[in-house]
Amino acid sequence: MSFASQNFSQEIVRALTECGYEKLTPVQKQAIPHARRGHDILANAQTGTGKTAAFSLPIIQQIFDKPKQRGRFNVRALILAPTRELVAQIAQNIENYTKYTEIKTAAIYGGTKMSSQEKKLEQGLDILVATPGRLLEHLDLNNVSLANLEFLVFDEADRMLDMGFVADIRQIMSGVRSTPQTMLFSATFSAQMNKLASEILRKPKRISV
Ligand code: AMP
Repeated sequence: MSFASQNFSQEIVRALTECGYEKLTPVQKQAIPHARRGHDILANAQTGTGKTAAFSLPIIQQIFDKPKQRGRFNVRALILAPTRELVAQIAQNIENYTKYTEIKTAAIYGGTKMSSQEKKLEQGLDILVATPGRLLEHLDLNNVSLANLEFLVFDEADRMLDMGFVADIRQIMSGVRSTPQTMLFSATFSAQMNKLASEILRKPKRISV
């Protein structure tokens, strides 16, 4: 199954071809059609399966289809991931997929200066990729608004819970005033994970690879 046959725009297909992507991986085959229709997703998927493209391409296409003027401090899509390495990697993949579009992405994580991140946030973003702790610091300083969030992703959710981010995640969720399309990706499922999933997902499509 090719990306062009999934009705991705030419600008996106071209970038994917340059990345060397020809056919969808199994997780992409399962997740992309549901996510393109706006459904919430609960996915059991390991790293290395192509999960980053599975959640980001449907978001990228939907943002591309409905361009909006960027509002100050506003974010349309938020992707949360446990570590700075993973955040940087997801943001880099998204930059690669969106190189022929006007979509604007930033990565926010600890260990780097708040001030340079502040500037990026103030200008408004289409897609923000962040670790929960650093995002919360910016939320507390009113450097970013999640009031109009349209898309929300939890990547490697089990690792975020293992690292003790659950309180941060709940606090971040309290800043979301909209009902974003939400996707949760995890390699394992515990009782705590199922509880979180039931709190944040609405009638999710379940996927397992
Ligand atoms: P991930 O599980 O998202 O970390 O992806 C694992 C690796 O597979 C990354 O190097 C991706 O760039 C690559 N990848 C993702 N989707 C595809 C695809 N459809 N075709 C070829 N490579 C892919």
